[in-house]
Amino acid sequence: TTFIGASFGGIAEMYAQIQKAVGATERVFELLEETPEAINANPKALPVEKIKGNVAFKNVAFSYPSRKEIQVLKEVNFNAEFGQKIALVGPSGAGKSTISSLLLRFYDITSGEILVDGKSIYDYDLENLRGNMSIVPQDVILFGGTIRENIAYGKPDASDEEIMLAAKQANALNFIEGFPEKFETLVGERGVKLSGGQRQRIAIARALLKNPSILILDEATSSLDSESEKLVQEALEVLMEGRTSIIIAHRLSTIRNADKILVLDNGKITEEGTHQELINLENGIYKNLSNLQFSNS
Ligand code: ADP
Ligand code: MG
Repeated sequence: TTFIGASFGGIAEMYAQIQKAVGATERVFELLEETPEAINANPKALPVEKIKGNVAFKNVAFSYPSRKEIQVLKEVNFNAEFGQKIALVGPSGAGKSTISSLLLRFYDITSGEILVDGKSIYDYDLENLRGNMSIVPQDVILFGGTIRENIAYGKPDASDEEIMLAAKQANALNFIEGFPEKFETLVGERGVKLSGGQRQRIAIARALLKNPSILILDEATSSLDSESEKLVQEALEVLMEGRTSIIIAHRLSTIRNADKILVLDNGKITEEGTHQELINLENGIYKNLSNLQFSNS
């Protein structure tokens, strides 16, 4: 356990430094998503126990350790039941990505509680907790290795059939088979250059193999061209089936059918309901955002 503690400490520090340097939250998330599997490679690691995927935030307050004077989250309350799609919207800087970092336990909350299946996330073995979660960020970074290795990262013992099926369900099989080396194609700095949408579909295939109970999509389709967006959106729909999904969305069109939409503003959830309920709220933030986006597109 000393080994695990030490390695997470190092990663948390690296995370903080990279964030400071580039401020690119999503890129770093992807690196961090790889930590549980990396630790699972440790022969002494315990097998990951499946959780159901109920998530609850209760009066969660949080400030970043480096900026203690600013309360990013003041009083965040919400519930996500097993299997639901919960969307999180709100202005840039509202704290949406912070909520996903807290759920993944990259930082400790200041006060309140975060529960998974009714139990504090701090009472879980960290490796087990993260072994049940996947995040698909806006900008996926793959590690230097083959496409196969990148997909199998979430399940190192996956068979060729499983990898193939995951790639197919992720809408990635066509472009992978278009390369002469197919699944053995090298990616990353010394390999082929994949588009943002292709990298995301690899990340989706990885998540499908990992089969997490809780899925976080952080603006996963916001930087894609429309053709790529369609393929990624389709793959995400498959990925979301049967798990609890927390969808941070820039474009409201992608979250219209969410079970619940939460509006985060000034550190609090100020509106909560379905699309239909929220567009009927007089002077609502969601209603305004929605009017703006749908009249422009
Ligand atoms: P959103 O995802 O809604 O755009 P974030 O959760 O990324 O918002 O950020 C919320 C606030 O926290 C912003 O003011 C941002 O500058 C700040 N913040 C984000 N990450 C860090 C960090 N690692 N250290 C300090 N402040 C941060
Ligand atoms: Mg964000």
